[in-house]
Amino acid sequence: MFPRNLLQRNLFTKFHLDKKPYFVASLSAEIIPQPIHIKLHFMNAIWKTTLKQQQKKQRNRRLLLFSLLFLLAGVGYFLLPTHQSNKPELALTTLPEQTKEINPPSTAPKKKPEPIFTRAITAGDTLSSIMDSLKISQNTMYQILAADESLLALDVLRPGNQLTFTLDEETRQLMTMELFIHRGKQIIYQRSDADNFRYQEIILPGVWEKQLLNGEIHGSFFQSALAIGLSEQEVANIADLFKSRLNFSREIRAGDRFQVVRTQQLVEGEFTGQSQILGVQIFCHHSQHDAFLFEDGHYYDHNGDSLARAFLRYPHKGHFRISSSFNPARRHPVTGRIAPHKGVDFAMPTGTKILATGDGIVTRVKSHPFAGKYIEIQHGVQYTTRYLHLSRISVKRGQRIKRGELIARSGNTGRSTGPHLHYELHIKNRAVDPITAKIPMAASIPKSKRQMFKKQVAELIAVMNPPQHHQVSQYTQETKRNNPENLVDKPTI
Ligand SMILES: [Zn+2]
Repeated sequence: MFPRNLLQRNLFTKFHLDKKPYFVASLSAEIIPQPIHIKLHFMNAIWKTTLKQQQKKQRNRRLLLFSLLFLLAGVGYFLLPTHQSNKPELALTTLPEQTKEINPPSTAPKKKPEPIFTRAITAGDTLSSIMDSLKISQNTMYQILAADESLLALDVLRPGNQLTFTLDEETRQLMTMELFIHRGKQIIYQRSDADNFRYQEIILPGVWEKQLLNGEIHGSFFQSALAIGLSEQEVANIADLFKSRLNFSREIRAGDRFQVVRTQQLVEGEFTGQSQILGVQIFCHHSQHDAFLFEDGHYYDHNGDSLARAFLRYPHKGHFRISSSFNPARRHPVTGRIAPHKGVDFAMPTGTKILATGDGIVTRVKSHPFAGKYIEIQHGVQYTTRYLHLSRISVKRGQRIKRGELIARSGNTGRSTGPHLHYELHIKNRAVDPITAKIPMAASIPKSKRQMFKKQVAELIAVMNPPQHHQVSQYTQETKRNNPENLVDKPTI
C-alpha cells in the first residue's frame, strides 16, 4: 500500500523547511505543470507581510496547501506507474537533492526562466561567488552590502545558512534576497529603488525548552561534555566561564561528574540551534564549582559572586569627542537615508591606539567596502564588540585577547566622512549603546537582589540530581518526553 500519510508528511515538511515549494513543484511538474508558478508566488508573498499577519495567513494557507497537496498526492498516486509505487520512499528521499534546481523535461513547452533561486551555503562559499554563479551584477552586490553595513550579517555565511534570490520576471533585476540563518532568524534585503536595498530582520521568539544534562569525565572535559550532547560552542563557553577558577587539564579527573541545565530555542516545533546555559555544576575530587545565569545576563557562583571579567567602557585611552552616538533611527551622513547607527563614533586622528574592552577571542578580522577594516571580538558567552574603519590591525582571527590589549590603530577606511572609530557592543547578539549599557564590573549580586538570586539557584539545583544518585527527576522525564531525540542522562563514552 502506498504510504499516503508519509507522502503528505514529507511533502509538508520539505515545503515548510525551504520556505519554497520545490518539492511540490518537482512532484507536480510532470503531472500538472501549471500550478508551479502560482505556488511560488504564493509563498513568496508571505514573506512580504508582517509577522503577525504572516503567522495567521501561514496557518490558513497551510490548510489550503495541505488540501492541495493531498489532492495532488492522490492524483499522483493514480498517475504513477505501478513499479514506482512499490518504492515510494526511495523516490521521496532522493527528490530534495534533485529539486534544488528544477529542470523541466525537454518535451515541456519553453517557459520563462525561474525567477527564484535558493542556494544552501557550503564551506568556501562567498556572497560574491554565489552572486557570480547567478549572474547578478557586482553593482547589485554592493547595493546589498551597503544595506548590510549596520548588520554585517553577510560577512559570515555559514554552512546551513540559505540565500534565496527573487528576480523581477521581466527585467531579471534582483528584487529581494533572503538570508535564512536559522528557523528563528531571517534577514530580507529588499530593493527600495534602482540603487538601494533596505533590510528587515525577522526574529521569531519561539519557545525555550529546559534540559538537564548529566556527564562524567572520561578523557578531557571537552570530549566528555560533547559526549552528553553539548555543542562545541557550549563547551567552550563553559570552559571560558570557569577559566579563572578551575584548571580543566589538572584539576579534573576521570570519574568526576558535572551537570548542565540549558534552554534550547524551538520555533514551530523545530530546534533552531540557539541555546543558553542556565547553570553548571562541576564536582571535582576536592572541590566543587558552579555558575548560574542571573537576570542581568551575567554568571555568578552559588554565593552570588560574579564569574565575568570586568569590561572597559571605552576602547581607547584619553578623551575623544563622540561625533555620532548610538541611534537606531539615524540619518546616514553619507547617503542621507535613515539607517540605524548601531555603535558610537569617536572622532580621533588616524593611528590612535585601539584597545580591546574585555578579555576575549578575535572572531573576525575583515575588510568590508563600507565598514572598512574591522575586528570583532567575542567576550565569553554574552558579549561581542566590533571596531570599524581601522587603519591597521595587529591581531589575528582566533587570537586570545586581554582587556586593555592593543588590537589596532584607528583609521578612515570604508565609507567614512573622516577619521574616527566606530565601536559596537552587542549583548546576546543585539547591539546596545556602549556608553550607557550595563557592562560586567566583576561585582557580586547586589544585596537587594540576593534573595531573588538564591531562589533561582535553589530552583536550578533542585532539578540537578545529586551526582551520587542517578535517578531521573520529574523534570528530566518531562524533557525526555517532549524531546526524545535529545537524550538526557546519555551514558558517557
Ligand atoms: Zn559609526
